Amino acid sequence: MNSGKTLLITGGCGFIGSNLVRIALASGYSVINLDKLTYAGNPCSLADVENDPGYTFIHGDICDGELLDEIFREHQPDGILHLAAESHVDRSIDGPEAFIQTNIVGTFRLLEAAKKYWKSLPEEKKNSFRFLHVSTDEVYGSLGPEGFFTEETPYAPNSPYSASKASSDHLVRSYYHTYGLPTVTTNCSNNYGPCQFPEKLIPLVLNRALKGESLPVYGDGMNIRDWLYVEDHCRALLTVLEKGRPGETYNIGGNSERTNIHIVRTLCGLLDEFRPREDGRKYEEQITFVPDRPGHDRRYAIDASKIKSELGWQPRETFETGIRKTVRWYLENSRWTESILDGTYRCERLGLGEGAKS
Ligand code: NAD
Repeated sequence: MNSGKTLLITGGCGFIGSNLVRIALASGYSVINLDKLTYAGNPCSLADVENDPGYTFIHGDICDGELLDEIFREHQPDGILHLAAESHVDRSIDGPEAFIQTNIVGTFRLLEAAKKYWKSLPEEKKNSFRFLHVSTDEVYGSLGPEGFFTEETPYAPNSPYSASKASSDHLVRSYYHTYGLPTVTTNCSNNYGPCQFPEKLIPLVLNRALKGESLPVYGDGMNIRDWLYVEDHCRALLTVLEKGRPGETYNIGGNSERTNIHIVRTLCGLLDEFRPREDGRKYEEQITFVPDRPGHDRRYAIDASKIKSELGWQPRETFETGIRKTVRWYLENSRWTESILDGTYRCERLGLGEGAKS
């Protein structure tokens, strides 16, 4: 337990953030959640903890330097877990501007405010303070059939999203080397689990399957991602916060490389088991192949041996156990999905923007 320590979590109303806030509170931390509530931020994901005495929600933008100074002055956090971001690759193809603003400028403003605050701290608190920047394996580009991303893999981002995350990773690194701010960066693979906005593959497929709609699979469906159960990721983040060495980066993966078509077929099979179609047919019949995403990276795979050997973290879920839990969660919480599907998003195809290469 970590009672007494206060964490500032940015983007805590998003998918990973909401799971992290819950796990951090359960681990004894107090949590300040700063979130702008973009289309991806849903306070209803945290309805169960909103009255927890250790939880404070602040509605605001990480680009607002004055607000950040005020938060640091008032709440005196012992560490920051920075998750706020524009996170959807397809949206970055249609409109990169917001990605530059939040992911790069916002991270810069947070670093500036954190540096000012950190410098003012007494020695003991200064030494234990950490700025944990949450990033993605997409900064490393695309892999062929063999090999894994390690912490030494050169950066080669291919989408405006991954380029904006790569930029923020470099800024974070520079604040450690230039100013001594004790930063740590994590690069993780695709997360799945409860409370994911239904534009991402797994909730999108579940939602459309249950409505009897087509299940779009990009290209030939053979793109490979390494899937990580979101709660395993959150436990890894708290491990890095507590034990990670300043200036280091840690890759986090779930040891679960799967093709997109395998994911979709697995979801169809679990729906056949948990909620069979009324007409007796199989959900797989709803699968359709659609033109590929522009610049679609072929394969990502993470070598997570550093965090395992240095910090002793291990994922608790295999893909098979995690995906069963996930499907059950979406079936039992259909009101959560309905409550966030307002007039602005209807599970339509994004990411074919005019500027995109076809
Ligand atoms: P998400 O899109 O579900 O949530 C992002 C949250 O950030 C939302 O609550 C949103 O309201 C908030 N936000 C956006 N702009 C903001 C701003 N300017 N100020 C304050 N809050 C703002 O994202 P996620 O999937 O939970 O991802 C969280 C982090 O993890 C991101 O940094 C993302 O790049 C990284 N990541 C995600 C995955 C994944 O599979 N989901 C994989 C690797 C890395």
